[in-house]
Amino acid sequence: MKFFILSRGDDTSNLIQQKILSYLADFGFTLNQEDPAIVISVGGDGTLLEAFHRYQHRLDQTAFVGLHTGHLGFYADWRPDELEKLVISIAKTPIETVDYPLLEILIDHHDQKKERFLALNECTVKTTEGSLVMNIEINQEHFETFRGDGLCISTPSGSTAYNKSLGGAIIHPSLAAIQLTEMASINNRVFRTIGSPLIFPQHHQCMLKPINDVDYQITVDHLTLIEKNVEKITLHVAKEKVRFARYRAFPFWNRVRDSFIGN
Ligand code: NAP
Ligand code: MN
Repeated sequence: MKFFILSRGDDTSNLIQQKILSYLADFGFTLNQEDPAIVISVGGDGTLLEAFHRYQHRLDQTAFVGLHTGHLGFYADWRPDELEKLVISIAKTPIETVDYPLLEILIDHHDQKKERFLALNECTVKTTEGSLVMNIEINQEHFETFRGDGLCISTPSGSTAYNKSLGGAIIHPSLAAIQLTEMASINNRVFRTIGSPLIFPQHHQCMLKPINDVDYQITVDHLTLIEKNVEKITLHVAKEKVRFARYRAFPFWNRVRDSFIGN
């Protein structure tokens, strides 16, 4: 079986990367950067986001697993002291996976240029200067005009990240949904937004339409893009899913508890 290991690049992560590499090589596995069946990320959740984006063109043939070298992660949920256990599981058991939903982002430009992105955590939209002013359409009907700092659209597994800081709900990743949250919306007698996070099921579409011709700062997970000439941004649950290799039970709600409440 072909595997690849992505390290965050610090000494601790690199050391663990080398250990996993030599253990898996001993088991007859092949290191392969092109088409690995399993990708092990060593570092933090940010490292797994990077691994996801590197292999997003072959999600149906790649299973991800994350080991954390800092604090417990949502994607990076294996501890360094479980390294041997993880390697033996990878070597000895057939890959069993769990699927998590993803967010699809389509950016249409006035000059016909179209871009498509997948997010594992979220997409955020801000302007490079001034307030963000956008019409929000839900299933092609006008819903509201947003005015404020920005908007965040997250996946269920991303709901514990930026979305949570914005007061969004934590959504279990077995639900194929996306969540829209506001960043400091302006609400007064002139401007009005719903104020609450909105959760959309699969097949519903949320569209953001610029009112003025400004430049946008759009993030897709850890990546930042500057987008000009934007006609509309369409968001919905993607048809693709991300697959995580599951070698032991670590329920989502336990990860939430252990990360935010303590154990
Ligand atoms: P970062 O600045 O290191 O990430 C911020 C924190 O979010 C880190 O502690 C990171 O964990 C954690 N994180 C990432 N994905 C998570 C998830 N699904 N659930 C819970 N925590 C999660 O930058 P990064 O590592 O490249 O991660 C990018 C992410 O940072 C973005 O996707 C966004 O969600 C988040 N972010 C949050 C805020 C905010 O809350 N105000 C602002 C900007 C970005 P690790 O330390 O394990 O990497
Ligand atoms: Mn990080």
